[in-house]
Amino acid sequence: MMIPTQISISEAEWEIMRVVWANGTVTSREVIDTLENKMNWKQSTIKTLIGRLVEKEALKTTKDGRKFIYSANISEDDTVRSFSEDILARVCKKQNGKVIQQLVEEAALSQTDIEGLMNQLQDKLTNAPVEVPCECAVGQCDCHVA
Ligand SMILES: [Zn+2]
Repeated sequence: MMIPTQISISEAEWEIMRVVWANGTVTSREVIDTLENKMNWKQSTIKTLIGRLVEKEALKTTKDGRKFIYSANISEDDTVRSFSEDILARVCKKQNGKVIQQLVEEAALSQTDIEGLMNQLQDKLTNAPVEVPCECAVGQCDCHVA
């Protein structure tokens, strides 16, 4: 799948993308049927959001007779990954562990998920530094404040 570089998707647009990712190809009617009630959005709002996603090249359009068919130009995996990288990039590297702890606390996790996380952490522990270096600009975090 071709990935246009760094498309930023708003929370509302993300709702649309989930419908497209789940179905592969959709018409605006199908998106409207899925989201009209859940989000309490007007049809025009949904069409505007679809239009924006086409403009951003997150969606591509093909024509089937008079109908427009939409499909994703960016994968769900890549988009979710770039979103989680964004979260970590917003704090000092020294705070990444704390952010992840907060996520773990709030996440719905199965026993299998937790075992997976424990294995992943066990692997990471092997090569982890004693302390993570701060890479912030001086003045953007309190690491530099004496
Ligand atoms: Zn820092």
